[in-house]
Amino acid sequence: MGVWRHAWRELRACCDLLLPPACLLCGERLPAGTPAMEFCPTCRSGLPQPAVARCPVCAVAYRTLIPASHHCEACLRQPPPFVKVHAVGPYAGTLQDAVQRFKYHGQLPLERPLGTMLAEAVLAGGGSLPELVIPVPLHQSRLRERGYNQALQLSRQVGSALGIPVAPALLHRVKATAAQQGLDAVARKSNLKGAFAVTRPFTGRRLLLVDDVMTTGATVRECASVLCKAGAVSVEVAVLGRA
Ligand SMILES: [Zn+2]
Ligand SMILES: [Zn+2]
Repeated sequence: MGVWRHAWRELRACCDLLLPPACLLCGERLPAGTPAMEFCPTCRSGLPQPAVARCPVCAVAYRTLIPASHHCEACLRQPPPFVKVHAVGPYAGTLQDAVQRFKYHGQLPLERPLGTMLAEAVLAGGGSLPELVIPVPLHQSRLRERGYNQALQLSRQVGSALGIPVAPALLHRVKATAAQQGLDAVARKSNLKGAFAVTRPFTGRRLLLVDDVMTTGATVRECASVLCKAGAVSVEVAVLGRA
């Protein structure tokens, strides 16, 4: 081991003694040996597991504990423009708390554990990995307000964990839309019409679209449809929480 690396490790150990790493969610001191920027065992055990019965395409959970994987009614009625959705778990409990802190309260260090969990969900989905990560974009006005795009922060973590490049600026939000919250499915869809545009074609590319939460799926449907029209051969979606 190089002398600098050794010195760095010693320094880190001293810092850990003076300022022991704490859980990003509850602030509890982490057990020795836990990597920094992690969750404590209690918070980790509160993270939801993927539903045993869910739609194989859009990952919506069924209200049953008996394993089932038939397509849901929405996907049967109107097959979505994406191939499948990888979700860390239902949008509830500790996961919901973590996402809200990350998205609305500027707790940016959460991007690392959340991004790692998202990359693991994509890997668990099996199959060959997509070639390019595309974050769901924010409109400039919302970006100025929040200061960062949570989907881009997550995309960078996922891209680096999976070794896939990230294209942060190829899909744009060209229309400032009203918040989707409180709108019904039809209103959500028309609210998003013409909201996204691409800056170049994606002919033959296999893409991974990343967002934090998927509720009705109107946003990822609209983005995936724009990407497919731009030539993408397939779009997979990765989200932390599936409502
Ligand atoms: Zn904790
Ligand atoms: Zn479905």
